[in-house]
Amino acid sequence: MGLIHASVVSLLPLLPRPVMRFLSRRYIAGETLEAALGRLQGLAAEGYAGILDILGENVVDEATAREVIGDYREAADAIAELGLEAYVSVKPTHVGLLLSEDLAHDLYLELARHCAELGVFVRVEMEDHTTTDATLRVFERLRGEVENVGIVLQSRLFRTPSDIDALGAGTLSVRMVKGVYLEPAAIAHTEAEPIRRAFCDCARQLFRRGARVSFATHDELLGRELIEICREEGVGTDRYEFQVLLGVCERLWREWRTTGHPVRVYVPFGPEWRAYSTRRLRKNPQILQHVMKDLLRRR
Ligand code: FAD
Repeated sequence: MGLIHASVVSLLPLLPRPVMRFLSRRYIAGETLEAALGRLQGLAAEGYAGILDILGENVVDEATAREVIGDYREAADAIAELGLEAYVSVKPTHVGLLLSEDLAHDLYLELARHCAELGVFVRVEMEDHTTTDATLRVFERLRGEVENVGIVLQSRLFRTPSDIDALGAGTLSVRMVKGVYLEPAAIAHTEAEPIRRAFCDCARQLFRRGARVSFATHDELLGRELIEICREEGVGTDRYEFQVLLGVCERLWREWRTTGHPVRVYVPFGPEWRAYSTRRLRKNPQILQHVMKDLLRRR
């Protein structure tokens, strides 16, 4: 961690709530489901599909994990009721993976069955490398039981091409990301260009095994390469989309959308926004750089 970043991060807990809220308001819809639904409706009016994410991770008691699933069920109900083109995205450690793999599986299954009745999709997110094996095992079990589930894979990790090969046959939906967790050099690419190359290679590998792929990125150059890969592989808009974070690089979303590429926006919300934002900033200095650059640009 650089000295400036370390100093800023150490000050974060001292920042008054309104200041932290100001720093994160572009990226986080608010504290309530209503606030998030309002954002989704606004985005829908502009032609964007959505993803709802309730902020939180590393839950270590079962009652909380069950409450989280209750909140996600409510979010899925609202998506269906409002007829929104949106789905829910859930972190494994938010629903008990750190407590027990079986618990996380059972809670995902409960949610996915509820969502299946509503026609809502569920994305299993990917966290740091210490959880990758368990997350993939939970996902593979779920895939054998329900159809409305997908996974996230990180191009940063050396293991990802083998993980793609190891996934069982059948319908497969993958959100491809670079990976937000900075991983050790022994197991992961650490430089931008190899991470980008690996992203393209994984996308091609996934298309060749018939998967539907969501490109979750704001990297314009990478986006151009991915569009070219879709063309080369003969993949249409029924098999790919771009996914972006609320408040990040909106110019790029507009460009993709107006040139015919589907774009889905990730809308995080929930009372845990402060703890979540602080943890994320602490883990990955680049996020802080992005936020500061963005604020300065706006000034
Ligand atoms: P970068 O090269 O990091 O960024 C490109 C440009 O985008 C930067 O120059 C900057 O201007 C802008 N930018 C990027 N991120 C931010 C930001 N946070 N704030 C402000 N500006 C920014 N990672 C996981 O490990 N697991 C997941 O489950 C997961 N889900 C995701 C879901 C979605 C919809 C998205 C978009 C990302 C997700 N990520 C996830 C994060 C992802 O792994 C990357 O860390 C993140 O997208 C930044 O990488 P990039 O491809 O945009 O490229």
